[in-house]
Amino acid sequence: MDDIRELKENLALASRILANEDLAQGWGHISVRVPGTDRFLIPPSMSPALVTPDDVLTFDLAGNRLEGDKPPNAETWLHTCIYRQRSDVGCVSHIHPPITITLGAAGQEIRPLHNFGSLFPDGVRLFTRPGLIDSEQLGTEVAAALGQNDALMLRGHGAIVVGANARHACIWSIYLEEAARIQLYATLLGSPQFYTREEASMIKGQIYLGPNSISIQRAWDYYVERLSKASAI
Ligand SMILES: [Zn+2]
Repeated sequence: MDDIRELKENLALASRILANEDLAQGWGHISVRVPGTDRFLIPPSMSPALVTPDDVLTFDLAGNRLEGDKPPNAETWLHTCIYRQRSDVGCVSHIHPPITITLGAAGQEIRPLHNFGSLFPDGVRLFTRPGLIDSEQLGTEVAAALGQNDALMLRGHGAIVVGANARHACIWSIYLEEAARIQLYATLLGSPQFYTREEASMIKGQIYLGPNSISIQRAWDYYVERLSKASAI
């Protein structure tokens, strides 16, 4: 049970960080798989900025709510279908990042052109069907579009980032939006100098931000500190 409590605490913190970094605003949601099971934990339908460990719901991969009384998010299927397809995924982050949405609305997919954009050396594909992912059918389509990649842009809507744990997907979500912002500015200034796949892969190895790395802890500590300062105001 202590492990579940720790999962819920990290999930609530990741949820608040995504809101504080303007990636989730009043909407968006992040979930974590209970390791080694076909269950996952997800906040109910509420602002991600306000999520506490006690709010978190438990679902199975058949779509059943196992624990929690609060109403679920309309897009819970998005999470369910990705966990079904990807046994390697321990966390699904669904965000509404403004610059990522802007690029997608202009028909641009995110491509690496700075250090943290190299986390996605193959670029990030755009799922072109607009609207909420509020059915099992749409969840299945999104999971298929994600494939074995770590991120997917949703046209006019947001993005999905998957990872091994809440810290991993939360930090990579932040860097996805950073990559989009730099790509937008570079495009406005002239011709973006995108990295080749080889360059991006080399840099991804250098800045290693694996799920339990020292680097991801360092980034996490920074964003926790920013959240604590924002919350103290
Ligand atoms: Zn959404």
